[in-house]
Amino acid sequence: KTHHQQLHVIFFPFMAQGHLVPTIDMAKLFASKGSKVTILTTSHFIPFLSESIQKVRDSGAQINILTIRVPTAEVGLPDGFESLSVAGTPEMQQKFFQACGKLGPQLDQILERYRPDCLVADMFFPWATDVAAKFGIPRLLFHGTCHFSLCVATIMFTHKPHEKVSSDSEPFIIPNFPDQIEITRDQLAEFVRYDNGSELTRVIKALREAEFRSYGVLVNSFYELEPAYADHYPKLLGRKAWHIGPLFLYDKGISDSNENGCLKWLDSKKPNSVIYVSFGSIANFDDDQLMEIATGLEASGQQFVWVVRREEKEGVKEEWLPEGYEERMEGKGLILRGWAPQVPILEHDSVGGFVTHCGWNSTLESVCAGVPMVTWPVSAEQFNNEKLVTQILRIGVEVGAKKWKLLVGDFVKRDAIERAVSRVMEGEKAEEMRNRVKGLAEMARSAVKEGGSSMLDLNALFDDLRSARIARDSICLH
Ligand code: UDP
Repeated sequence: KTHHQQLHVIFFPFMAQGHLVPTIDMAKLFASKGSKVTILTTSHFIPFLSESIQKVRDSGAQINILTIRVPTAEVGLPDGFESLSVAGTPEMQQKFFQACGKLGPQLDQILERYRPDCLVADMFFPWATDVAAKFGIPRLLFHGTCHFSLCVATIMFTHKPHEKVSSDSEPFIIPNFPDQIEITRDQLAEFVRYDNGSELTRVIKALREAEFRSYGVLVNSFYELEPAYADHYPKLLGRKAWHIGPLFLYDKGISDSNENGCLKWLDSKKPNSVIYVSFGSIANFDDDQLMEIATGLEASGQQFVWVVRREEKEGVKEEWLPEGYEERMEGKGLILRGWAPQVPILEHDSVGGFVTHCGWNSTLESVCAGVPMVTWPVSAEQFNNEKLVTQILRIGVEVGAKKWKLLVGDFVKRDAIERAVSRVMEGEKAEEMRNRVKGLAEMARSAVKEGGSSMLDLNALFDDLRSARIARDSICLH
């Protein structure tokens, strides 16, 4: 085999929208750069996946899909339950993670058959490192978050500063960090705080260990956004990390959502006059909290687009909306149910703020659209992302959520919502935040261009993988 032979990379994302979407972007990027690419996923995602890779495929890139089956029946989940996004309760989520832990043998077969040059597997599949090692294949990890949050997670694992405070709400300074950042145990994921014996605790522990043994980590971020942490993370880990994002910027494609009613509605508004409110694909608030958001938005006097993950039922009164709310908000606020075209919305001139749960994809999309944020973290690593946004980048205002809660989030009162929304939309401070984030948006675009920091790191990764193959082949020859 020669140095220039085509690389074959297998991508294995976790079955949740927030993990799948950036992985597809990454797969398309690798394919467009000349690698042969295979994506492993469940049949649930095939229609979505096929559609999103069609264009790259048509352009001649080699990109294929292989289907795996999550053994849901073995853990007592209904058939067809093949995505975390459809997981209703925390118990069902636990079961889903448990079922995913049984995918090893299927991956084993696939690697044996295809012998790729590299496996890019999601953080939630810690066992993938060992399966890949069996065939001498380098395993790269993909977390789908920023360097800052990866640094927090790594420090908690190695230094355990959270075990040295006396209460969950007592702030402590993160040790060995480029900036003075305070955090509380309440803001850390339950499975980081205590070993509660859950499936997630087990997976997270295994994933940290696997990370230290992996070939390295791919990060969907760009150097200029968080240089101190992009430098710090590989040192903490003792492994390489490549910053190759923002992944969604490489292939913007032709948006067919121009026909979307919401974008038409935005067309009729003044620049920076609408706040977009959405909490990603997993977080779910109860009726009381939605009611609080509704009244808080109304009280702020700002125009808004609010995505609510509730279906409208014919003839059923909606308990989460104040009486006559939608009539009252006519022309002023738009409620979208289900899936919204988030990137085009954020990029619309009329949108001047984003109330977000700080999922990393949403955060990065907001940065790239030059939109300041109201941060309302719920779970996962979202409290860390909030700190990056409000304390380091200073492009957002905290709504005041204090506690990590799987799926539902901490209760936030209407006054806090009203205040944070106003602070992001109006006044001198808002203007400063907007200018800062617009500067970052420019840097993001430069990073993914030829010669930009992310593009250079991507090329460095390809060189590393080719060298790894040469090293492996020469071992085989001896
Ligand atoms: N998203 C979207 N429309 C929606 C909700 C979410 O397009 O109505 C997209 C959003 O743009 C982002 C992803 O789904 O790319 C959500 O990922 P994130 O990491 O922000 O949050 P998660 O859903 O993983 O909690």
